[in-house]
Amino acid sequence: MTRLKKEERKELRKIYKKIEREKKRELVKINEFQLRKLLKYLDSKSILSECNHSFRLTREWAKTENVDIEEVIISIESLGAYCDCEIMLNIDPYEIFKE
Ligand SMILES: [Zn+2]
Repeated sequence: MTRLKKEERKELRKIYKKIEREKKRELVKINEFQLRKLLKYLDSKSILSECNHSFRLTREWAKTENVDIEEVIISIESLGAYCDCEIMLNIDPYEIFKE
């Protein structure tokens, strides 16, 4: 009995995590490929030491990639990042797009 409950809990936790991931993914309007590209771009600009706490470089990137900047920013904010360097610190494409 106890054993079954333990397994049930495990199963529930798995489902819960999956739902959380799906919810996140729904909020994200850019795809994994774009997100990885954006992270690479920010990395190449050494954003961690030079962020002025805006989306300056993200905007720059969106322009060169021809993606809708508003969509990108909504996506990124929904993932808990509010400036260029926070994208590097808080967003893990693997975590969002796995499965
Ligand atoms: Zn910053």
